[in-house]
Amino acid sequence: MSTVETVRGPVETADLGVTYMHEHVFVLTPDVQQNYPDEWGDEQARQDDAVTKLSALAASGVRTIVDPTVIGLGRYIPRIRDVALRVPDLNIVVATGCYTYQDVPFFFHYRRADLRAALGMDEVDPMVPLFVVDITEGIAGTGVRAGMLKCAIDEPGLTPGVERVMRAVARAHLATGCPITVHTHPGTEQGLVVQQVMAEEGVDPGRVVLGHSGDTTDVDHLSHLADAGFWLGMDRFGINLDTTLEARADAVVELCRRGFADRMVLSHDAACYIDWIDPAAIPLLADWNYLHIAAAVLPYLREHGVTEDQITTMLVDNPRRFFEGV
Ligand SMILES: [Zn+2]
Repeated sequence: MSTVETVRGPVETADLGVTYMHEHVFVLTPDVQQNYPDEWGDEQARQDDAVTKLSALAASGVRTIVDPTVIGLGRYIPRIRDVALRVPDLNIVVATGCYTYQDVPFFFHYRRADLRAALGMDEVDPMVPLFVVDITEGIAGTGVRAGMLKCAIDEPGLTPGVERVMRAVARAHLATGCPITVHTHPGTEQGLVVQQVMAEEGVDPGRVVLGHSGDTTDVDHLSHLADAGFWLGMDRFGINLDTTLEARADAVVELCRRGFADRMVLSHDAACYIDWIDPAAIPLLADWNYLHIAAAVLPYLREHGVTEDQITTMLVDNPRRFFEGV
């Protein structure tokens, strides 16, 4: 029997059901929020809003989401636990790791292996044991364990900070077996950099989702990464500022035609509230919500030749296989 840690405790992989592999609940900038709290407003109203949106997601047939909100994205598990307890039909898998495109947070800047060595301490990156405790014991005394590791690489590429986090995530994975999701920028083929670093660290690509793969229509590039054994996160359906529903969905159609239905997972990268976006701009992103895949993407895929079996593979079987490590 194989299980995955969720906010309410372990769930058997066979019971994950339809799983969206990359959805946030809240994405926040805590020190801005603490000083300019007016936009967030009433805590209870925000939690009620999240319960409403996540309940609608569960009612659409989705049983599990993975929330890859880590350090740098305002992770706060007591709030997520309060929300999750009010949406009993939805499993929420939370994550540990660090999200940056450039530097590590200053908390870690002077806490690093080379300075520890100079002080006669062991040379482990201090991020690694923090991530490991989140996975093996729980996060910040809540008892909620992380079920996913997360790092990021974007257009700036493998900066020293990005590399440090990626290697720390790889080492926490090797110590625990917890799988990995990586925010990537496929337009600049950052998946190839992930491939190199993970190979150097001895990480099996089959334990890694390359997130935001659906931001490109370069299916040759994506086919190469799928052939290498990575999972492709076609996980930003509804974010159509630089692309369209059709472009995103056509990439999935073509990858299915090439035989890669068993390498893709689907999601929106949506949130109940994200403070990166001016609330006035949210109406420009009308499709960016938890219900868009069920409402628009799956009908489009069916119309363009993706079979019901392939849809089940992407939504149910692949998440289960990913967490089982098979
Ligand atoms: Zn995300």
